Amino acid sequence: MNIKITKTLTPKAIPTDESALGFGRIFSDHMFIMNYKADKGWYDPRIVPFGDISLSPAAMVLHYSQTIFEGLKAYRTQTSGSSDGGKIQLFRARDNFKRMNLSARRMVIPEIPEDIAIEALKELIKLDREWVPKSDGASLYIRPFIFAADPFIGVRPGSEYMFVIITSPSGPYYATGLNPVGIYVEENYVRAVKGGTGYTKTGGNYAASLAGQVEAQKHNLAQVLWLDGIERKYIEEVGAMNIFFVINNEIITPELQGSVLEGITRKSVLELCRKWDMKVTERKISIQEIADAYKNGTLQEVFGTGTAAVISPVGFLKWGELAMEINNNKIGEISAKLYQTLTGIQYGKIVDDMGWTMEVCD
Ligand SMILES: *Cc1c(COP(=O)(O)O)cnc(C)c1O
Repeated sequence: MNIKITKTLTPKAIPTDESALGFGRIFSDHMFIMNYKADKGWYDPRIVPFGDISLSPAAMVLHYSQTIFEGLKAYRTQTSGSSDGGKIQLFRARDNFKRMNLSARRMVIPEIPEDIAIEALKELIKLDREWVPKSDGASLYIRPFIFAADPFIGVRPGSEYMFVIITSPSGPYYATGLNPVGIYVEENYVRAVKGGTGYTKTGGNYAASLAGQVEAQKHNLAQVLWLDGIERKYIEEVGAMNIFFVINNEIITPELQGSVLEGITRKSVLELCRKWDMKVTERKISIQEIADAYKNGTLQEVFGTGTAAVISPVGFLKWGELAMEINNNKIGEISAKLYQTLTGIQYGKIVDDMGWTMEVCD
């Protein structure tokens, strides 16, 4: 692939106070764009200065939400004794682009070969390498997305698309350390059902989740725990994270059956726990089973998993009138070990014997 590169003539100042980066508000100097037309396929791959894009008000995505996205990070490895960090690497990036193609098939969006997407991403990061934060816990968040751009207001699959990658330097997710979050069990709204789009990263899923999020905030809780859309009994996921429970030393996560998104962090946690010979189970788990385990004292840990937070300990669960405090609102042993191992591999502090990392550049 021949990527045309147009460098910015007005580079922005790269933030020096990495503790103040926050998440998703600052963007690096460049972005990758590629267009698609039904009769041409993907064409015109280019890296251009980060900036606004122009679209027809009739662009199909604005009306019917034919769009998909991914979320991953580039990490600067910490070499001991050097303050400026080592090389830049990605974590399981191929899996992100595989999943993007899974989402594409469901949303009738043309796929992009993983090798091409990875090549585009590597070129973009190389050009903006100074935007990859240097401090521990900070990273360059990467957002690839594809949307239908045809100026047409009928409902049908688009025939014109744009694939864009933007990147955003982000601070440590937990400014004050790994603090447990409070979760609200949503019994009214649902996120997804089998046969729907729950297993894809498509915009509409997140728009549909906002009302539940507002409900959780009314209760002063950070995130929503979604139950299945049919019986409102079985646990699916939490916010934009997968969820795990430790009951009686068994690590349990809801099985994938079409409505749950298959997180790459979820998959990594399962692989690590199996490697460590822990008892791990993917199965149906009801909110009643969690309440029972809480009451009889066997509910040891609850944590969410996702690229942004890696491991997010849950300290509090509210289900109707029942308020459950988990592990005295402290991070559990297994959650901490998983967090240390995953971030250790991502930041090159632990040898990657799983083959999960991919070097981009120095
Ligand atoms: C992205 C996402 C996750 C987590 O996936 P990772 O690949 O681990 O980041 C979980 N649930 C939903 C709904 C998501 O959008």
